[in-house]
Amino acid sequence: MTTRNSESRIGGVPPVYFDLHCHLRGTMKPDQAAALAEKHGVPLPLRLEHEHYLFSNFEDFLSVYDQVGHVVRSAEDLKDIAFAYLESVARNGTIYVELMLSPGHSIANGIPFESQISAISDAIEEAEEKFGIFSSIIVTCVRHRGPDEAVTVAEMAVSNGSSHIRGFGLTGNERKFDAKDFKGAFLIAEYSGLGLTAHTGEWLDAESVLRTVNALNLSRVGHGISVAHNSAVMSELADRLIGFEVCMSSNVLLGSAQSYETHPVRKLIDAGCRVAFSTDDPAYFRTSPAREIEMAKKHVRLSVSEQWLIINDSIDLAFCDETKKSKLRLYCDRFSKDLWATAP
Ligand SMILES: [Zn+2]
Repeated sequence: MTTRNSESRIGGVPPVYFDLHCHLRGTMKPDQAAALAEKHGVPLPLRLEHEHYLFSNFEDFLSVYDQVGHVVRSAEDLKDIAFAYLESVARNGTIYVELMLSPGHSIANGIPFESQISAISDAIEEAEEKFGIFSSIIVTCVRHRGPDEAVTVAEMAVSNGSSHIRGFGLTGNERKFDAKDFKGAFLIAEYSGLGLTAHTGEWLDAESVLRTVNALNLSRVGHGISVAHNSAVMSELADRLIGFEVCMSSNVLLGSAQSYETHPVRKLIDAGCRVAFSTDDPAYFRTSPAREIEMAKKHVRLSVSEQWLIINDSIDLAFCDETKKSKLRLYCDRFSKDLWATAP
């Protein structure tokens, strides 16, 4: 078993948060979706419960998700959605976000890829200027749409040239296609220096996570929680310093984890895996980066040193450049010293 210790750090754990696994369309709250539906004159037959999206299982969730995504009809919409999320989480202590963009949906709605990136970049720059939050874009291909489209998406991502595009990912139904079918798309992204991640191990077993990491040369996995059921794979991925983007509320609400209390992240942390708590689709899972940490502290009983480890790992695993990572570390250290200085 791998054991890692946080650096010997004094002072309190700063209330700073990260979101390394966040789908842009999944940040759109029902009132935002309703406003866009009215703006564009498109129907939005939403089922709501206490002003939250209502869905009964994973398939139903995907169906609602697609209906809601249908109301995004312009680059301006994308900018507004991204900015609204960055503003809301920055006000609650989040200092770094990676927004996943699946460009195919908006291209189908008439928004060219370049316009999508330009709009989200505007939101990122405005949010950094106004609230000091750093953000990056992870362009994602969709697994069940097949490897050919994935190559097209990778080529668009690397030829765009935006400094905000820092990663390439694979979303969608992990039961469709084999991970190695996407090797071509991931090689294009890797040769251009993009960080690599893929959804895996949310529904399929630990061996499939290992195969996906190896086939696509990933440094991070989206979810990956099934690894906790195979100590050999878990230990290997811990030793290889693979990052796990853990989204507890998503797992509990969609059923890939039975409860917060029994969530596999405790085993991952105990085995020395690198973990970054994230939101997945915060508007659907009624969460935020701050709430995910609160739930982990409450139900997974994160110790102070584990909270520091997660802050360090979140920064190390981020796809942003070293200059931004240094600023994030400095911010956390200063915050910690201030907390220490003001402690009773
Ligand atoms: Zn996801």
